[in-house]
Amino acid sequence: MTEPIYLDNQATTPLAPEVFEAMVPWLRDNYGNPHSTHVFGRKAAAAVEIAREQVAAPFPDAGHVLFTGTATEAINLAMGAVLELQEQGRNKIIVLATEHAAVRDTAIACERKGFDVLLHPVESDGLIDLDALAAAIDRKTALVGAMLVNNEIGVIQPIEAIAELAHAKGALMLCDAVQGYGRVEIPGNIDMAAVSAHKIYGPKGIGALWVRDDIDIPPLVHGGGQEHGVRSGTLSPALCVGMGSAASLCILRAQQDAEHIEALAMHAKRLFSDWTINGDETQRYRGNLNIRREGLDVARLVSDVREVAFSAGSACASGSGRPSHVLTAIGLKPAQVKSSIRLGFGRYNSLQDIEMAAKLINRAAEAQ
Ligand code: PLP
Repeated sequence: MTEPIYLDNQATTPLAPEVFEAMVPWLRDNYGNPHSTHVFGRKAAAAVEIAREQVAAPFPDAGHVLFTGTATEAINLAMGAVLELQEQGRNKIIVLATEHAAVRDTAIACERKGFDVLLHPVESDGLIDLDALAAAIDRKTALVGAMLVNNEIGVIQPIEAIAELAHAKGALMLCDAVQGYGRVEIPGNIDMAAVSAHKIYGPKGIGALWVRDDIDIPPLVHGGGQEHGVRSGTLSPALCVGMGSAASLCILRAQQDAEHIEALAMHAKRLFSDWTINGDETQRYRGNLNIRREGLDVARLVSDVREVAFSAGSACASGSGRPSHVLTAIGLKPAQVKSSIRLGFGRYNSLQDIEMAAKLINRAAEAQ
């Protein structure tokens, strides 16, 4: 059997060959603990600090990067910032209804600490109505959470405007930048942002929280006091170097990657012209195509088209068997949710991949 076509780049991305090469010496030769003070440790620490700067590059200067195991962990760490604000009488957290579970469920978990959590609705195009959001944010709001690029439908939220609304009422703005980092410009007025290496052609097992220098984050993992005392544990220089090099590569290849994704997206749009696009058609990251076809049984489609790796909703939602909360939030009926698929294009896909995938998917869909 030939290699299946991978069109699930929102679930994860392949490791870039350059990133693999950058990591090898840190796995094979340089085994120093970056927290040791001798020469082996100092060499590893220097590599970690270079990687930290590389990951921080697209963010404003007045902040720093904390390495974590995943973006989910980074988001959990960031949410801790609300505790200090709670002492000042702020007990409300607002996150968009279409946030990834990493933000949504972490916010909901804060209810146990006495917070009121509002899952703020979006419009049928997946985008936020800024007037409605402005009305929801008040002086009791501690934090507003919104993602840059939606992992299921690809829409790009107006993060800069959302941060302005949060700041106008003295609240913090947390941006889940996992799907947008390296692809979409990150506004300079956010307070915290989460990133994941495995979504940017880096290794799995490492993420990062970017946080403004004046924000106090309580420790999530106690121990040896690494990462400003908030996330103890020995860092993996290989993973840090991998994430740093993946981040740099995204910047270096930004135009090339964007042009490539645009070409794939244009081709896909033509080949899937019989399908309806879920989410706004223009305000979206072009590497995401979430489409539906009335009456389609997607579970059957996925099992019929084994030569293409694509997703019925997000990886998490499709794994759980629950209907996608994102597609539900944009007003799709259960049958429409079940007839939707997500195709995610990436740096290593070719036009031939899109052509072959479209042929197989369309043929199977028509045969139903
Ligand atoms: N946020 C978004 C938008 C995502 O797509 C994902 C991964 O699917 C996450 C957060 C969680 O990232 P990680 O796998 O690094 O925990």
